[in-house]
Amino acid sequence: MIPFIDLAAQQARIKPGLDAAIARVLAHGAYVMGPEVRELERALADFCGAPLALTCANGTDALALPLKAWEIGAGDAVFCPSFTFAATPEVVPWTGAEPVFVDILPDTYNLDPAHLEAAIAAVTAEGRLRPAAVIAVDLFGQAADYPRLAEVCRRRGLKLIADSAQAFGCTLWNDHPIRWADVATTSFFPAKPLACYGDGGAVLTRDAALWERMDSLRVHGKAAGGDRAANGHDPKYLNARVGMNSRLDTLQAAILLEKLTVFSDEIERRQAVAARYAEGLAECCLAVPTVIEGGVSTWAQYVVEHANRDGLAAHLMTQGIPTAIYYPVPMHCQAPYARYPRGPGGLPVSEAKAEVVIALPMHAYLAPDLQDRIIAAVRSFNG
Ligand SMILES: *Cc1c(COP(=O)(O)O)cnc(C)c1O
Repeated sequence: MIPFIDLAAQQARIKPGLDAAIARVLAHGAYVMGPEVRELERALADFCGAPLALTCANGTDALALPLKAWEIGAGDAVFCPSFTFAATPEVVPWTGAEPVFVDILPDTYNLDPAHLEAAIAAVTAEGRLRPAAVIAVDLFGQAADYPRLAEVCRRRGLKLIADSAQAFGCTLWNDHPIRWADVATTSFFPAKPLACYGDGGAVLTRDAALWERMDSLRVHGKAAGGDRAANGHDPKYLNARVGMNSRLDTLQAAILLEKLTVFSDEIERRQAVAARYAEGLAECCLAVPTVIEGGVSTWAQYVVEHANRDGLAAHLMTQGIPTAIYYPVPMHCQAPYARYPRGPGGLPVSEAKAEVVIALPMHAYLAPDLQDRIIAAVRSFNG
């Protein structure tokens, strides 16, 4: 079986550095909030040209932290795509707010700015909810249309979150999503482009006061710099807000620092893999991926469209080639989310794409001969 994502190839490449980094943490013993955590936050911020980064326990909490820090809650609407992983809408009801589902563009699968604008107008006209924020998703590795999304958010007074869990490192006109978004979040789940060996996440921001409130929230709402009523007590036991426990382990931070040393090179390698797929598959699929003009994708997934994608998946499986469906059922069609509002006219593009998308093996170390086998197998399917 060809691996869908080959984490072993990456590990073999950086093994000595990983072993040394892990040994250093075992030796110093600061397993929670150790020095590697701050070092990683500095490195993540620098990588994206952002002033500040805050790590946390996973990419889902990374979305919840800014919503809580902005005190978004009951009566608020948070606009997001439905063609995404559950974590994107999931964090919204946690706060008491409601997700409002917006359709995607048919070529990039990312949020449709025109439908977003229409959805905001409809929610405003109805008057039941107050439009508060937008969570845009950088699906499959590429940036959403941030110049247009940020313009809509600015004009309408909404916060903008970039859910970059699948796309940390992606750029648009050489800038990272944090240039346009109020915060950009990511996940270090093992299958993501920049990943650790467990769960982890991070939030990037340009707002120091927001960073401080999120830093407080991730440690049970501990008193932070701006909350100075500590009167000499340990701020750990003075709580300025109802928070959560969402820290990144020091071991995972140390592992991520090693993985960052090869990350830019891996993004380069992924471009070559994607280009080889595009060349080999353009004629035999309904569509191969379109990258937004000016964009560089991190290619978390390589997703093509096929009229008989289930037949294609079965055909590839007989040749030892795994595939995956992201996402078979859009979130607004799933039971827990069916009651939440949708933009005007519903989400026909999300529903249509869910029927035809299929992801092929994709990672930075996919060898050309293996990839040619995958391409030949797809081309040999006539169903
Ligand atoms: C993976 C993912 C998340 C959540 O990340 P976890 O670390 O698994 O909590 C959020 N949004 C999107 C789009 C994702 O793909």
